[in-house]
Amino acid sequence: MQTKIVSIEQGLDEAVELIKSGDIVVFPTETVYGLGANAFDGDAVRKIFEAKGRPMDNPLIAHIADISWIDRLAIDVSDEAKAVIKAFMPGPITVILKRSKAVPDEVTAGLDTVGIRFPIHTVARQFIMACGVPIAAPSANTSTKISPTRAEHVFEDMQGRVPLILQGGACEVGIESTIVDMTAEVPTILRPGAITQELLANVLGKVKNFDGKIIVAKAPGMKYKHYAPSCEMVVATSPKSAVDEYVRQKANGLNPVVLATSRYLKDLGKGDINVIDLGANDEDAMRNIYGAMHEAQDKYDYIICQDFGNEGLGASIMNRINKASGGKRI
Ligand code: AMP
Ligand code: MG
Repeated sequence: MQTKIVSIEQGLDEAVELIKSGDIVVFPTETVYGLGANAFDGDAVRKIFEAKGRPMDNPLIAHIADISWIDRLAIDVSDEAKAVIKAFMPGPITVILKRSKAVPDEVTAGLDTVGIRFPIHTVARQFIMACGVPIAAPSANTSTKISPTRAEHVFEDMQGRVPLILQGGACEVGIESTIVDMTAEVPTILRPGAITQELLANVLGKVKNFDGKIIVAKAPGMKYKHYAPSCEMVVATSPKSAVDEYVRQKANGLNPVVLATSRYLKDLGKGDINVIDLGANDEDAMRNIYGAMHEAQDKYDYIICQDFGNEGLGASIMNRINKASGGKRI
């Protein structure tokens, strides 16, 4: 077999033809070069393992050209997984999701999960999009050799084993994608990469790193906490629980404050309690809530907020309060 290196302009039609006829093609991505085949064609995927000399029990990554393709490969995609996808795709990250039945065992090595990646490299995207199917691929090196970051690396290592290499220049990221398992109870980084554990923690709040250590977001989480005050904030489910929490946190050495409407504050009873009055009704509270959060974080160090329920204006206020408190209720 002759191996040729061609530009996407010259080689796209032939590359697509090869994929459609069940053959393999090498393509560039921002991480490393990949050795690809139609992810829905088990026989084609076997050729990857043959060309690499790779054991079949090592799963491949399915590469997509549009976010909507995830539904062709995976089921039960959690909100957390969606947040990661939204934040980092396309880009140098692979998410592990529950596989759909359409994905053959050759891709997943028989696991009930599938690794999915949406590369940002324009040649990769053009190639995959033109194929119209997800492309299963590992790195385009023979087993145990160094991952290739230039077309020439692939040629040196794999000439005679693959028909076509799409030229894409030097890979910008240069190491394999970060792999994060979104099916684990705590999302778990299986392989570190350009998308760091800190970046993932910012989106997920909590992520296990590749050593099994739990990493917690330093900055407020992007998903749940948007308008978060700099100190902790909780929602009290009743005036009584507000007072109980106040007493508890005071005993912890904190200086808490209760944010609530005038009438609610009256229900707390007399006593030496820090309060910020949000006004007479929901309309007042909506207007005052952000200002109250600002004041609270400046003067106090623990915020206990009234529950405004889940109807009407109350629901709108709670939408912001839930983000600020991360949904924590007491
Ligand atoms: P490579 O980038 O050449 O190492 O090939 C893809 C890598 O993705 C494999 O070595 C696995 O570590 C990883 N991978 C792919 N699918 C899964 C999966 N379902 N579960 C765990 N790891 C996976
Ligand atoms: Mg590899």
